[in-house]
Amino acid sequence: MKPLSEWLPQLANFTIPALRGTVTRLRELRRNEDRVTARDIASVVLCDPLMTLNVLRYSQARMRARQLWHWIYHHGLTSFDGMSSIARPMRDALAATYGLNRPTIAREQRSIDGTRKWLLRFEDGQEVETVYIPEEDRGAVCISSQVGCALTCKFCHTGTQRLVRNLGAREIVSEFMVARDSYGEWPSPKGDTPRLLSTIVLMGMGEPLYNYANVAKAMRIVMDGEGIALSRRRITLSTSGVVPMMDRCGEELGVNLAVSLHAVRDDLRDELVPLNRKYPIGELMAACRRYPAASNARRITFEYVMLKGINDTEADARELVRLIAGLPAKVNLIPFNPWPGSAYETSTKAAIDRFARIVNDAGFASPVRDPRGQDILAACGQLRTESQRAVRAKS
Ligand code: SAH
Ligand code: SF4
Repeated sequence: MKPLSEWLPQLANFTIPALRGTVTRLRELRRNEDRVTARDIASVVLCDPLMTLNVLRYSQARMRARQLWHWIYHHGLTSFDGMSSIARPMRDALAATYGLNRPTIAREQRSIDGTRKWLLRFEDGQEVETVYIPEEDRGAVCISSQVGCALTCKFCHTGTQRLVRNLGAREIVSEFMVARDSYGEWPSPKGDTPRLLSTIVLMGMGEPLYNYANVAKAMRIVMDGEGIALSRRRITLSTSGVVPMMDRCGEELGVNLAVSLHAVRDDLRDELVPLNRKYPIGELMAACRRYPAASNARRITFEYVMLKGINDTEADARELVRLIAGLPAKVNLIPFNPWPGSAYETSTKAAIDRFARIVNDAGFASPVRDPRGQDILAACGQLRTESQRAVRAKS
């Protein structure tokens, strides 16, 4: 069974010139280039699989493709059955060839504070973690971009896993869809209808800028106004500092940027975030200063994990302030989340408070990230490791 929505993500990233000249069907798109969306492009190319079903002429296929998009991404349907605007024979024909399945939920944990965490398993058996983190009124879905990670940040549990593979665009979008299923929040809101799940943070497993093409496709799909319809202002991409991709991300996607800084001197950052040897702090900060989507209303978030006796002195805080001076920025102070075998401890509350005060007095918001879902929330990546261990033990 082929996943139908596979067609949509594949197409979302087509540039208009790449489509140019393919066929006369694209005439209309060409006329409206500046307003062409992921769905427009998908709906044109989707016509092929629909027409091979032999039910349709081109004009009908185009309309059906748009209807499918709406059922899949606006209503969140997982079967063709409920697609009432599509005639029964066509629904049957689609169902015979295509599937709309979500990934399997291998494990779900619910915290008393509302945090939910899923271990999702894809068709090939690979697993990633997705988390819903509630905030005062609405919350964020924390999404993974890769199975494992090629980088090896010292304090990060995912960094102990090797990179297995990139997630495809469809898989990335499906993480959000599973979370929305869990809260029964379909259909996607039009206008200002409040939804708990209205924000995406790309802060799960993996380095999103090392899987940029798929992440970009996925974000274009979730941003499309006829589908999930999240605004770019509600999406934050977190990077450990893949400098050359930061410019592209800002220009092409315009989502909010979070940068995992964690150290203010190259010698220490080389050790904590080894990617720093390739793209040192100076280059990273220059890329932040160029980031097109940053403004006072949309500040760059600097993430800073508080490691006891490593990066948490007052001198560190003052140097941090110097580095970000003049940038529209805020600093998220993250108490280190320990995991078995990790080499670090969480900074003391007094040290975190001192650090936060210095940053705050310099005019930058410096929230200390609340420990959320403490009863369930192991460090990111731990669920997957546990699950793999269980599989190995069985075999
Ligand atoms: N790879 C991307 C996004 C995923 S990590 C990045 O590095 O930015 C999301 C955030 O969680 C990063 O800021 C990361 O440094 C932080 N993090 C990882 N392990 C942590 C731990 N054990 N405790 C606290 N924060 C952690
Ligand atoms: Fe990868 Fe981010 Fe973890 Fe570093 S912190 S190992 S980049 S997931």
